[in-house]
Amino acid sequence: MKVALCNLKKQYLPLKKEIDTAIAKIINSTSFILGKEVENFERHLEKYLDIKYGVGCASGTDAIILALRALGIQPGDEVITTPFTFISTASSITRIGAKPLFVDIDPQTFNIDPIQIEKRITKKTKAIIVVHLFGQACRMSEVLKIAKRYKLKVIEDNAQSLGSRYKGKLTATMGDIGTLSFFPAKTLGGFGDGGAVVTNKKKLAENLKCLRLHGTSKQYYYQEIGYNSRLDTLQAAVLNIKLKYLNKFNALRREKAEQYNRLLEGIAEVKIPYAYKDNYHIYGQYVVTIKQRDQLKQYLTKQGIASAIYYPYPLHLQPCYKDLNYQKGALKVTEASCKKVLALPFYPEISLKEQKQVVSAIKSFYSS
Ligand SMILES: *Cc1c(COP(=O)(O)O)cnc(C)c1O
Repeated sequence: MKVALCNLKKQYLPLKKEIDTAIAKIINSTSFILGKEVENFERHLEKYLDIKYGVGCASGTDAIILALRALGIQPGDEVITTPFTFISTASSITRIGAKPLFVDIDPQTFNIDPIQIEKRITKKTKAIIVVHLFGQACRMSEVLKIAKRYKLKVIEDNAQSLGSRYKGKLTATMGDIGTLSFFPAKTLGGFGDGGAVVTNKKKLAENLKCLRLHGTSKQYYYQEIGYNSRLDTLQAAVLNIKLKYLNKFNALRREKAEQYNRLLEGIAEVKIPYAYKDNYHIYGQYVVTIKQRDQLKQYLTKQGIASAIYYPYPLHLQPCYKDLNYQKGALKVTEASCKKVLALPFYPEISLKEQKQVVSAIKSFYSS
């Protein structure tokens, strides 16, 4: 039996009727751009996160760009972030003309190591983008303390962790702005691209709305150069339905992660994901740290078991960032992690049988 990394169909089928009806309704209304469903979704998202303003946009990548622009980050400014993340976190900084400063990560959680942030700060540093990686919050109280001391803005890239908590607080709500992605495989996934930006500050929310609509402050009047970055009404309709079940999906993720933890117990070569006691980890991905990663991955593929590497190359050594002049060995924990991590098949609906199959294949690899 093949085991897929993720199976979106298993989430769709039980909701099919509800979703298909909502989609048909929008097609009938032809209100495709910033229709009522977008506003509905924004209100529901605000309620879910207990935050004042939610603004839909076209993708999680755009959400970061909009956040940086709304916070007034200028070309030439520096923004601190992690090199162990999806490219968007850093490329968004570059795309607005600012410069990413990469800080190494914590080897247990793979999140930015707050202790190393302070020494990277210069006069040009204006903001920090943290990423709550794989479903777990980074050490926010330390990040916020540093940000306050140096008057830096904080963006939380929460593309992988919607519903996750840090000491009881929902991720995306602790900094100045939180950004979300609704890419289909994320924990809240649409039927295409989508994203959102959330904040408690009214002025920022107004600016974000203006920026996503070409910089429009009133019709055909442009306050600044903006973007065409709206959340599609069709996506909003799907997300509105799925948001109702998000806590259930996240609880299932936690259950299935516990299940893997138990099954993997006693395999010395495999280190299970580390979870802080006071974090509500929602396991956007289930990522183990292992020996002979590449050989194991190949072996699993041969057995029909999918797996993925998030991330195989550190961002500071990517060809697109060679101008930043980082050398190999500059951020050791990140570079070592890229060689050891492996994401196993994982999604809320994965069956015990599938999980057992994955683990028994891992066992047979290490015993042979
Ligand atoms: C997926 C992801 C993004 C980008 O989201 P898109 O909606 O695909 O543009 C940004 N940051 C992180 C950490 C992500 O995982």
